[in-house]
Amino acid sequence: MYKILVIEPLHPEALQLIDARNDVSYQLVTDVSEENILAHIEDADALTIRVSTLPVKALQKGKKLKVVSRHGVGYDNIPLDECNRLGIPLALVGSVNSIAVSEQTIFLMMAAAKLGAIFNQGVKIGNFGIRSKYRPMELNEKKLLIVGFGKIGREVAKRAQALGMDILVYDPYQKPDENDLKVLPSLEEGLEIADVITLHLPLTPETKYLIGRKELAILKDKAILVNTSRGGIIDENALHETLCTGKLHGVGLDVFEEEPVHPDNPILSHDRVIVSPHSSALTDDTLKAMGMMTVQNALNAIDGCLDPALVVNPDVL
Ligand code: NAD
Repeated sequence: MYKILVIEPLHPEALQLIDARNDVSYQLVTDVSEENILAHIEDADALTIRVSTLPVKALQKGKKLKVVSRHGVGYDNIPLDECNRLGIPLALVGSVNSIAVSEQTIFLMMAAAKLGAIFNQGVKIGNFGIRSKYRPMELNEKKLLIVGFGKIGREVAKRAQALGMDILVYDPYQKPDENDLKVLPSLEEGLEIADVITLHLPLTPETKYLIGRKELAILKDKAILVNTSRGGIIDENALHETLCTGKLHGVGLDVFEEEPVHPDNPILSHDRVIVSPHSSALTDDTLKAMGMMTVQNALNAIDGCLDPALVVNPDVL
């Protein structure tokens, strides 16, 4: 009997894929402490994991592991170097969450442009006159810089084009072939001219604080910044300082350097910042699709037919 260690719950229909097999069982672990994971990893043939940090020792002790199947597309919570060293593939869910995240990106961009948080709060406390104090921004014909033009960035582009925005792209590893986009040779060039900047790239040592003090300084006055990728790509201290100067029209954040974000985080004190709790991909449709894909990757690895296109480190296959 093969065993899948399910670290953090998955959609019930995803777990039914395992129930349907008489040669595979699963063990659900909700206590994600290192000690508890180590207690259950030794006989696991595959593991699935959501947002908790996978301990290096779990990979070392999991001698039968044929895959680490991540419920998502970011993998900064997985020790990839150790996966590589031990020859364990790290599988992701592909494009199944791209639509949900792109929709949340558009929501945060629109909310920031239209001062959603400020006006909502104002009207509810009887301050209808707030309409004369702040000016919402129109997005038609504004320049949207998409940093990271992978699966989510491309979905954001389609939706923003429907809003009449001009799309600029910065991604040193992709060559977009859409001819209605402007591809930029450097990030700085985009930051200087964009009205809205949205981030869709992984958090890696290279991208940590990609948007720091220097980058924020070159943004246009009244720019909007949106981040649904990972906290840590923006330097929050530098962002707080920039917000204090009143330079930005708005900021939309789904992700934070530290999650859960602490209520005392100074970023949250700015009324032009609208936030969500890393919830971009948590729609019913996407949770089900991500759960199914996560389990399918684990089963495929057990069956020896893992799709290399879904694997971060296909060289180990
Ligand atoms: P993807 O791999 O399809 O695209 C990422 C793109 O980033 C690639 O095209 C890559 O070339 C580009 N990139 C890498 N380094 C770069 C750099 N220094 N500058 C500019 N571009 C760079 O991934 P995706 O599915 O589009 O997801 C993007 C990110 O969104 C993920 O890494 C993940 O961290 C995040 N994400 C967040 C949520 C959420 O719930 N908020 C959900 C899904 C994904």
